[in-house]
Amino acid sequence: MGLPGGAEMIVVLLVLLLLFGASRLPKLARSMGQAGKEFKSGMKEGYKEEPVEGSCPFCGAEVPAGSKFCPGCARSAEDIIAERALKQKSA
Ligand SMILES: [Zn+2]
Repeated sequence: MGLPGGAEMIVVLLVLLLLFGASRLPKLARSMGQAGKEFKSGMKEGYKEEPVEGSCPFCGAEVPAGSKFCPGCARSAEDIIAERALKQKSA
């Protein structure tokens, strides 16, 4: 018996081939590999390792690196990071 999922891999590859064209596949595979690597390293570092230093998106106060709360409005680092991500998405 072959490897489980082997047929599905072929179907996925065929779909990618149709969507992107054969000439672009190697580039796509490379960028997917890089994205996977970055995703894995990001998962390892976790949320608490995200840089919180910079200006607070709520009150504009300068938040020192590694702090758990904003010195201006006392929002948590998680709130600040989440709000920044939201603003980046809408920008
Ligand atoms: Zn603040």
